[in-house]
Amino acid sequence: MKFLKLASALAMGLAVFAPQAWAQDKGLVGISMPTKSSARWIADGENMVRQFEAAGYRTDLQYAEDDIPNQLAQIENMVTKGVNALVIASIDGTTLSNALENASAAGVRVIAYDRLIRDSGNVDYYATFDNFKVGVIQAESLVEGLKTRFPDVKPWHVELFGGSPDDNNAYFFYNGAMSVLQPLIDSGEVSVASGQVGMDKVGTLRWDGAVAQARMDNLLSANYTDKAIQGVLSPYDGISIGVLSSLKGVGYGSGDALMPIVTGQDAEVPSIKSILAGEQYSTVFKDTRELAGVAVKMVDAVLQGSEPEINDTETYDNGVKTIPSYLLEPVEVDASNYEKILVEGGYYTADQLK
Ligand code: BGC
Repeated sequence: MKFLKLASALAMGLAVFAPQAWAQDKGLVGISMPTKSSARWIADGENMVRQFEAAGYRTDLQYAEDDIPNQLAQIENMVTKGVNALVIASIDGTTLSNALENASAAGVRVIAYDRLIRDSGNVDYYATFDNFKVGVIQAESLVEGLKTRFPDVKPWHVELFGGSPDDNNAYFFYNGAMSVLQPLIDSGEVSVASGQVGMDKVGTLRWDGAVAQARMDNLLSANYTDKAIQGVLSPYDGISIGVLSSLKGVGYGSGDALMPIVTGQDAEVPSIKSILAGEQYSTVFKDTRELAGVAVKMVDAVLQGSEPEINDTETYDNGVKTIPSYLLEPVEVDASNYEKILVEGGYYTADQLK
């Protein structure tokens, strides 16, 4: 009798709990990230998996190692597996049109993550940062550094680096930076000795630090044997590290050859360490926990039949339509504030930066 009571209590308990457990499975989300070669994308992936699972979704997270056919195959595979939504940070923002056509035919909703997906009508929303502002912050930090480290130099000699020409963000970063630098170039306060200006001349395919290092070597040997360089606009920490290796290779940062001001982006650990060692000057922190949160909320809204929160309906025309977007705020980080923003903010432990 006791046993029967227990059994029926258990059965009732199960009956009460089972539908809830079942209701918690809200579907499968495919997360397609570009590469593991940069720590930020690893953090983006981990943050999304954690937050999607907490919201009741299963996830399929894939990295394409900067190989376009690889990313296409991974996305197609996700659609075959029956994902309900895709969150994609594209390698080349223009290559996904066919894959997304198929996804859309299968009823899959699509969120562009951090990087705009171009030339496709099958993109529902875009979760990103204010990318123009990233460039503004980089250039303002560069100018502030030039003023403090090289107060008496006129003009300041600066070289420019852009991001990957197949990444829509690269143009926003560059244009944002040039909105600050072009007036100084026009007034003669800043000089680009190589004459290499414009994304067609300064882009760095796949954001590759080794490519940037080789270009910096050439810039130095062709233009800076009889004068010093004071600054380098770098759009991404991996590029900054390559540029700094090149500069150190010809003696900057030792003896009386002051290290030029070098900017960056993503607050990656090697760059924070470099900032603390007095080499890289600054970076731009974009909190991947927050971006993941925006993407999760967008997916949840579209799958549950409501409207996600957006704060920009004008900036991101992808060639087919303007994608409704949510833009987060980027933050400048340098030696004076890294502790408050990155350590107290819980993004890194103090030990990770030692
Ligand atoms: C991202 C940057 C990143 C770069 C290289 C861009 O699309 O917005 O945060 O530095 O890609 O990975």
